[in-house]
Formats: sequence, C-alpha cells, structure tokens
Amino acid sequence: MSDKISKEVLTEWLEIVRPFAHDGHVADYIPALAKKHPEDLAVAIHYHDGTTVSEGRDEDCFTLQSISKVIALALALMDNGEDYVFERVGMEPSGDPFHSIYRLEQHNPSKPLNPMINAGALAVTNMIHGVTPDEKVGRLLSFIHEMTDDHSIRHSEEVASSEFETAFLNRALLYYMKQHQVVDGSVEETLDAYTKQCAIEVNVKQLARIGALFANEGRDLDSNRQIISKHFARICKTFMVTCGMYDASGAFAIKVGIPAKSGVSGAVVGSLNKFGGIAVYGPALDEKGNSVVGLKLLEMMSNRYDLSIF
Ligand code: GLU
Repeated sequence: MSDKISKEVLTEWLEIVRPFAHDGHVADYIPALAKKHPEDLAVAIHYHDGTTVSEGRDEDCFTLQSISKVIALALALMDNGEDYVFERVGMEPSGDPFHSIYRLEQHNPSKPLNPMINAGALAVTNMIHGVTPDEKVGRLLSFIHEMTDDHSIRHSEEVASSEFETAFLNRALLYYMKQHQVVDGSVEETLDAYTKQCAIEVNVKQLARIGALFANEGRDLDSNRQIISKHFARICKTFMVTCGMYDASGAFAIKVGIPAKSGVSGAVVGSLNKFGGIAVYGPALDEKGNSVVGLKLLEMMSNRYDLSIF
C-alpha cells in the first residue's frame, strides 16, 4: 500500500484547490442543486486497514446523483445475474454526454451502450427487484446501509421531486426504451425510482467507505462480510475506469488513473485496491459534468502518492 495521506496534507491541499471552485458552475438543470455553494469542499479517505481521514465540510450531505449508478448496477447484478443485465445494457464507453439519446437509435435492437450513461442507468433501475418505486429505492437504501453500516442514510425528497418535475430528457430516454422493449412497466414509476436513487444523500466519509468496499473486492472492512461478490465488484470498478468520469474518462485515466465515478452534485468516489476509498466533494462542475476541485485534488493525490493503477 502507498503511504497514507495525513490530515495536514488534506487541509493544505483543500486550500490550494479552493480558488479553482470558481472555474466551474454548479449544476442548475436540477433546480434544487443550484442552491449549493461552490466553496463548500470536502474530502475523505477510507483506508484499506479501516482507518479514515477527512477534511473540510465532511459532515455535510450531498446527493449521489450518477454515483448511484455504480451501486444500482451492483444490486441489479445481484438481483438478476450478469447475463440478464448485459443482454439489455452494453459494456462499451460512449464518448457522448451522459444524457445523450442518439446512440440508442444506432443499435439494432436498441440497447444503451453502458450502465453509467443515463439510458443504461435507467434500464438498470428498471431491473432492480421491487414492485413499487419505493420498494426498489428501499432495497437500494438497505444495500447502502449495509455497505456503510449506517442506517440513517435517506434520499432527499426535495432534490428527487425537483428532478422528477424537470426530467424531460430522462423521460424521453425511458419512453424510447419502452417502445423498444429495453425497459418494461410504467415509465413514470421507473423515473420516480431513478430520481429518488440519484437523490440519496451521503457525506464524504460515508462515500469513501463505499469506495473502500468496492476496493476491498466487495468485502466490508470491519466485519469482513462479502456484501458484493468479488466478480461484481470488479465489473463495477471496470465501468468506473472506462465510463465513470463521463466523456472525460480517457483523460482522467491518463492523468489520474484511479477507478472513479462522479455525479453532477459535484461528488467523486474513487476506489483503489489495496489502498481504499476516496471521496471528494466540490459542487462546481466543468463542461463535462465533473467536479473541478475533485479533479484537481485527485490528480494531486495520484501524482504525489503514485496512485495510478496503470
Ligand atoms: N440525476 C441526474 C440525471 O439523471 C444524474 C446525472 C449525473 O450525475 O450525471 O440527470
């Protein structure tokens, strides 16, 4: 394992990256996200040996947004098995923005390219077992409670309904996929489950622990319980490498080299075998949808501590 990064180093680095918070823009296409302050920064590391370090606004909650796609994928794989999931959703990076619709028409029969873009993620949510949206989200929350050993984690109704009311593109993706039998059941109910899934709130310490669990091949670091199989944890981490940072995943792999997933709330989770989980939060996003401060901090960490997996 590489050297541990101390709290003092994190404090110093947060101040170095703070000015970059104003280089990006807080997401406002989900109205409730627009209220966030660009300088509310936080970082946490959950090391492989179970110890943790965090700095900044490490108790503040933010919504998972697209980071939930990795967790939902793990649950859908456990619910349905690999063959079922990948018959309906592909494994290839798209190189397109996360909510792009046009590739859906290029594949015959229609199939979203991967589970990290919105089309694929909506199809994955549709596959999670549960009769009602609340049952699906309840199962996802129980899974997150197990991963974090924290039963207080909930979704924000304010953020979920703010997205539900304005999610015209995601509705369009779902209706298209319903027409082509990629998803079944009610579009509105799948969208309800998806927006609640994206609105699950955590802080950086809880998120770093989730990253550490994936890094530890699906085993909880405290109890040593296998919560996700090694194989499914590996599938999720591979998607983090190939498609986790939107259509900037290639540049991120070269510059940082940490399997990671970001969300439009400004959070990024990294997962490094034999090191642990890293979570960074900074709500201002670059033009691809990645946290500006998150990218800077992860690049600094990776370079200074030689964290790239490549
Ligand atoms: N709930 C967001 C959406 O579907 C998630 C997007 C993201 O974080 O990339 O638009």
